[in-house]
Amino acid sequence: MQLEGPHRRCGYVLFVGLSVSLILGCSQRRVKPPEMPLAPSAHDQIQQRLQQPYEDLFDLAPGLNLSATDLEGMRKHVRQSQDYCTTNVKERAKIYEKQTDERIAEIKHLGKQIEESQRHDLHCQIQELRSAKAQADLLADQLIPVAFDNSRAKIELLEKWPADYQQLQQEIKSEAYLSRRWGNATEIGFREVEKDQKDDVKRGQDAVRELQQQMAMPPELDNKAIQDYVNTVAQRIARNSDLLVPLKVVVLDSKEVNAFALPGGFLYVQRGLLEAADDESELAGVLAHEMSHVAARHGYKLMKKAMISSIFYQSAQIAAIILTGGAAGIGTYYALQYGFYGLGFALNLNLLGVSRDYETEADQLGIQYAWKTGYDPNGFIRFFDKIASKEGNVIGASWFRTHPVFYDRMVHAKREIAFLPKKEQAIVQTTEFEEMKKLLAVQVVKSNSEQNKKRPTLLTGGEERCEAPKKLYKDTDLIETICLQFEPDTPASKK
Ligand SMILES: [Zn+2]
Repeated sequence: MQLEGPHRRCGYVLFVGLSVSLILGCSQRRVKPPEMPLAPSAHDQIQQRLQQPYEDLFDLAPGLNLSATDLEGMRKHVRQSQDYCTTNVKERAKIYEKQTDERIAEIKHLGKQIEESQRHDLHCQIQELRSAKAQADLLADQLIPVAFDNSRAKIELLEKWPADYQQLQQEIKSEAYLSRRWGNATEIGFREVEKDQKDDVKRGQDAVRELQQQMAMPPELDNKAIQDYVNTVAQRIARNSDLLVPLKVVVLDSKEVNAFALPGGFLYVQRGLLEAADDESELAGVLAHEMSHVAARHGYKLMKKAMISSIFYQSAQIAAIILTGGAAGIGTYYALQYGFYGLGFALNLNLLGVSRDYETEADQLGIQYAWKTGYDPNGFIRFFDKIASKEGNVIGASWFRTHPVFYDRMVHAKREIAFLPKKEQAIVQTTEFEEMKKLLAVQVVKSNSEQNKKRPTLLTGGEERCEAPKKLYKDTDLIETICLQFEPDTPASKK
């Protein structure tokens, strides 16, 4: 499509609020949609595999015989699709910024002649545009990369697992696996994974205090039975782990699907994770993984030289929105109440001990702890899988920021499970878990209605009595769907 000139307007209404309608212009620069570097039939076949769970791919890959050329072509296609989507979203973010500036200029231009209702209306619009800009930034910087990382990890699995599977069989046959790092699973609790775990307790306490002072910590879930249940499961695993510090477990009332542990044994589980888990082995897998970071002192090792005040992610928009908004500011409000992004995006990954090597190590140890406690150790992979596939890409973005996905991680987890002695009757589901889910369903309705009631008061620092900021996309949308919404001149954009 030809551009008519640099000032051409092709506005459309994305969403209409009570007093706000965002007219979105077309970008002046135009990027070409990616061309297909492989035959459509090969693309469709691989694309279909990329929608399947990792668990299925591990079973299927050895029998698929996909050509190296097609896999390479698909990798190129994924890269180009990511670039195209990112560019479109960034262009849209620029438009939001420009529109914000125009409204600020309008207020300035009107000066003393501005009527109060007009000012209010413009303030609401600015607020809405800033929210839209923050969402687009987050999409470009975080959500798009994690979603496409999943595709890349799956392509690598299709490519490498057939040979790796052969090697795994060899290692089992020759018993070479027995000499792997932390291969002495019978010594869990009696081997020293890391000395001086207790030295991290103060660091963890400082981090908790800092989070609370910034009002960035969601409230605790107001349900004793659910808190007790999660605590019971976690303490049971802790007794079957290498943890040498007491574990403090708190369920937070936030719909984010995530859990994290701070150094020294402070384990936080967000409500959304309980909603997303379908059985106790999945929950156990996550809890075991998080406590492995504590036992292996990953946070301490990565934070050694950093100040505790740098626990927030120091990336431009997150830091700006959360920190400069002030404690009760609009930024924290958007961030935590609306779930545009939550703690998973705000926290410094070093504090959580997240790096590729440490994730792989925490997976290994976590799988061992879940196994030793009597759980089916596949629970963790199943949960990971679900967030990557079934639940859509966006809702899992916070999870994938703090638990980055890559092939080596999946394959090491799979290998560790294969190496551990099989247990009869490994626990997958319990009646206690099912009871908790019933209580949770009721609690979620209650929590959501209470949080809705609180919304207006939380808006101090922003303009009051505005419509609540809109989300640009649904949590359950797949990234492909979201990318289409940001394409210039899509049918959806011409409504
Ligand atoms: Zn981790």
